[in-house]
Amino acid sequence: MAGGTVTRFAPSPTGLLHLGHAFSALTAATHGRFHLRIEDIDRERCKPEYETAIFEDLAWLGLDWPRPVMRQSDRLPAYRAALERLAPLSYPCRCRRGDIRAALSAPQESSLPAGPDGLIYPGTCRRRDLRDAGPDDVIRLDLDRAFDALGLGKIGFRDKGIMPDQDHVLTRAQFHEGIGDVILARRGMGTSYHLAVVVDDAAQGITLVTRGKDLFDSTFIHVLLQRLLDVPTPAYLHHRLIRDDAGKRLAKRDDARALRHYREEGATPADIRRMIGF
Ligand code: GLU
Repeated sequence: MAGGTVTRFAPSPTGLLHLGHAFSALTAATHGRFHLRIEDIDRERCKPEYETAIFEDLAWLGLDWPRPVMRQSDRLPAYRAALERLAPLSYPCRCRRGDIRAALSAPQESSLPAGPDGLIYPGTCRRRDLRDAGPDDVIRLDLDRAFDALGLGKIGFRDKGIMPDQDHVLTRAQFHEGIGDVILARRGMGTSYHLAVVVDDAAQGITLVTRGKDLFDSTFIHVLLQRLLDVPTPAYLHHRLIRDDAGKRLAKRDDARALRHYREEGATPADIRRMIGF
């Protein structure tokens, strides 16, 4: 275990933990002092029974973590403070998916340009004032104002897993093209995944973020938000994804792969470690 390294495992209680989560949690636990964080801002999809199952399954795997556990649904004031800080760089957006598709004039859904924050927003609402925000609006970051405020032409980070000797860089133009004006607060949520993760990693003093490769592109958003909020950028380690026999990435709906089903069938924690190559 690395000396002062602080890592985290941050599941959303929207389903049962599967082998991929076990891999992620064990990766975090072997690289540092590991915190558990419950990412439950999506109140419609998160369920208390899944949260209980997370605690039980991780304990069964032999993991332990500091209490109390941080829960994102308790952190809305911290997200509000971050949004206020970013207010000069943000705007309210009332566009729904259909409006965005029409503005992008894409012939079909499959040809819509999308990145780690969903559809690349064409900027229809960019000139709107935050004071005119309606209750059904989302809040977006204006990338131009953000990059201007930082005086930066690019955003980069290093990854301990992927090409560890090189910076991964997005220029301002690539950020526009591949990501767009990021959502800072979703409708009725008071935050977005990206904003909450950045605020919470900073609050928990995380020095190494370990997580799946599927979130690699999101890291550019997180590094940009860290710069804007003036919080440290942790080290990153994006790890391989655990796939099913057909090579498909495991999802929470794959209940057959849930840790507790293996356990019910008599598997031990050592069996699980072996199955995921730990
Ligand atoms: N809550 C996210 C998930 O369950 C993980 C977030 C992260 O590691 O940054 O996929």
